[in-house]
Amino acid sequence: MERGRVEKKLVVLGAGPGGYVAAIRAAQLGASVTLVERSHLGGTCLNQGCIPSKIMKTTAERLEMMTASVSFGLVLDGGVRLDLIALRERKERILQIQRKGIEGLLRRHGVKVARGNGRIVARGKVLVRGDDGTETTHEWDRLILATGSRPLEIPAFPFDGKRILSSDDALSIETIPRSLVIVGGGVIGCEFATIFSAFGSDVTIVEALDRLLPLPSVDADSSKVLQREMKKRRIKVRLRQVVERVEARETGLVVHLGPSPFVPGANESPGTPLILEAEKILVCVGRTPNASGIGLETLGVEADAKGWIKADDRMKTNVDHVYAIGDTLGPAKVMLAHVASHEGIVAAENALGSAETMDYTVVPSAIFTSPEVAGVGLTEARAREEGKDIQTGIFLFRNLGKAQVIGEIAGQAKIVSEAGSGRILGVHLVGPHATDLISEGSLAIQTGCRVQDLARVIHPHPTLSEVMQEVAYTSMGKGIHG
Ligand code: FAD
Repeated sequence: MERGRVEKKLVVLGAGPGGYVAAIRAAQLGASVTLVERSHLGGTCLNQGCIPSKIMKTTAERLEMMTASVSFGLVLDGGVRLDLIALRERKERILQIQRKGIEGLLRRHGVKVARGNGRIVARGKVLVRGDDGTETTHEWDRLILATGSRPLEIPAFPFDGKRILSSDDALSIETIPRSLVIVGGGVIGCEFATIFSAFGSDVTIVEALDRLLPLPSVDADSSKVLQREMKKRRIKVRLRQVVERVEARETGLVVHLGPSPFVPGANESPGTPLILEAEKILVCVGRTPNASGIGLETLGVEADAKGWIKADDRMKTNVDHVYAIGDTLGPAKVMLAHVASHEGIVAAENALGSAETMDYTVVPSAIFTSPEVAGVGLTEARAREEGKDIQTGIFLFRNLGKAQVIGEIAGQAKIVSEAGSGRILGVHLVGPHATDLISEGSLAIQTGCRVQDLARVIHPHPTLSEVMQEVAYTSMGKGIHG
């Protein structure tokens, strides 16, 4: 704090990856910060999202690896099977460590944590009601809304936590279902399909649109490769169909499908049976904001018809000194943990006097399916829609020595670059460790790198990172190994 300057009081509502990072940044800038959280520190990401799902995915992957151990010259005499109780205990241990880690960071930065449900009750005041009914009032000059989102349910068959599951339920499931219908082939649906099929469930994904991962950030080629690999794992995929209703019988659920209203001509696929039987259904059709009941109306903070809060690229809402970040902004921005954290930093800095802008052009996406899918920058389709003169290069993982060594040869790397200059506009990977490898793509786009620059970077051998150099060469029409 500079001498003579009045310390700003800043309240952050919600301690997910958006809120707690914003609180730390604001404290570093000298504000007196209170972070309000009604549940565990770390939000959806740590408690019902990124981390627990990746813990499950890791076990699924190890199980598959061990099942295939014979081909690596190993004999597992006693066999291998899933111990769900041990998996849940491991998950809980990791979550505890991470929560404690966040608590320590907040303490070290002098951030006060107010436990309970927060609500704006007047300009400059947030009321926090603890689980025991105790109420405390916290004053603010600056407010950051980071209340996140929760699973969206389908009114025709709402969550019951037993047979009709949300992603939260799936993460704490007590038995692996024999059969599982996953409604929604987006990121969360596809990740759970990978996990449950490895654990032995007979999985069917029902997706209303015409491809898996139907997101503007995912290249259509990546969706195709993923669908092909899912087929090899016996995951069934029903595209252009929706679940219309679900009948509960003693023996299980009867799932009635219908043509998707979102794809023209979707009802022209005769022959596919429109009834499935399943032990459980997992609904992964999106998220809904945690914005009602937090007192937005008290200040007149603008939200859209679905309740997603509106903010500009400085993370400012329509109300002076009130900022909003993370999932609470909904699909109009990008609903990812690393985006929420970055927005948190921008919001904290702007709340305390800077004029930072959030740039969404180079946001990597990481999808933890088998194989993994990752992308950054423009897809081929998007680049063409924007009228760009582009070239593409593709390189298959199977042509890399390291992919053969680790026995993970499925997938490809693709670069979308500007014809002529070679400037890299998009990088799209499906394959082993794609979610780690994508950062080189982010760096390439962020620094204005061209395919010929990337091709000249010496990559260590034998590593999966060589895929980036090889795909740069293929983009130039000078492929070495493919
Ligand atoms: P949240 O993490 O939702 O945090 C909001 C917090 O606010 C919560 O702790 C909530 O309890 C609290 N809160 C709400 N209302 C109040 C109130 N009135 N008073 C006090 N506290 C309140 N993203 C990735 O980048 N990578 C992944 O691999 C990934 N995997 C995912 C897997 C699953 C199954 C799911 C569901 C999500 C996944 N995500 C992933 C998305 C990621 O979890 C979210 O984008 C991220 O958590 C958003 O952060 P946030 O801070 O905006 O909100």
